[in-house]
Amino acid sequence: MQRLYISLCLMVSILVFIGCDPKGKPPDASVGGKLRVVTTIGMITDIVKNVGAERVEVTGLMGPGVDPHLYKASAGDVQRLTSAQLIFYNGLHLESKMGDILAKMSGNTKTIAVTDTVDRNLLLTPPEFEGQYDPHLWFDVTLWMKAVGKVRDTLSEYDSDNTLMYWTNAERYLAKLSELHEYVKVQAERVPSEQRILVTAHDAFNYFGKAYGFEVRGLQGISTATEAGIADVQELATFIAEKRIPAIFLESSVSSRSLTAVQAAVNSKGFDVKIGGELFSDAMGNKGTPEGTYIGMVRYNIDTIVKALIGGTSASSMVED
Ligand SMILES: [Zn+2]
Repeated sequence: MQRLYISLCLMVSILVFIGCDPKGKPPDASVGGKLRVVTTIGMITDIVKNVGAERVEVTGLMGPGVDPHLYKASAGDVQRLTSAQLIFYNGLHLESKMGDILAKMSGNTKTIAVTDTVDRNLLLTPPEFEGQYDPHLWFDVTLWMKAVGKVRDTLSEYDSDNTLMYWTNAERYLAKLSELHEYVKVQAERVPSEQRILVTAHDAFNYFGKAYGFEVRGLQGISTATEAGIADVQELATFIAEKRIPAIFLESSVSSRSLTAVQAAVNSKGFDVKIGGELFSDAMGNKGTPEGTYIGMVRYNIDTIVKALIGGTSASSMVED
């Protein structure tokens, strides 16, 4: 409660200093108008739904199973983007094939990368990404909370009549994300530290690894745009066999072919590695399922990882909601 109070005080002081003139004008809520918002990945769509609630009409371009690294805007998408009042995207080259269209849109529409105010010292720059930042920061829940702040601030600035609502909704959502972060930490600690090795289809889990104490290995690099070669498959297979890693993980937005090849290569070395399940990495699950939300997807991932690495009872069945 005290936190809410402090945040509201902060909000009031911020409002006093907002003097900028956002592009376009928000629709009049009194006549039933809603803000037309377009987002890229589902995790951002989820933030906008939680913070904007009934005040926004949000269209997410990338649904379940869609790989944002490879996604190109369709003609329909361009139309949706053109008619939007606000566009939220991840940035850090995640939506690399949409760079041109997003840059073009920013001339007329308020176009916001939700990661652009995150302290660059908190971002990872893995060597294989050649000096660029790793874009997958939603897997450290505390970093993704900063993206929530960015959406809240943008909506409040653009549609200042509803600032109080945006801040109240954001506080509620952020409290749930704090709980989620604790949940992931507690579940991760159930896996003995030497067994905390996560092998997945591509390098989406570096922030997860850093935040929750896992060594992570992806077959493909930070982007799925580069295919893994035979040498990559063999190298990873040797690593898995040597470390006797019990399970490796598919990803819902990446083809299973390459990782299945790794499994076969490990088996040919005389070690039996299981497919531990399919993780949601760059896209959420189906609408209407728990994994169709950011919170549900993160919970599903940690439960699946813990279950496969230590075996036995599903983590989620042991924890009360
Ligand atoms: Zn990715």
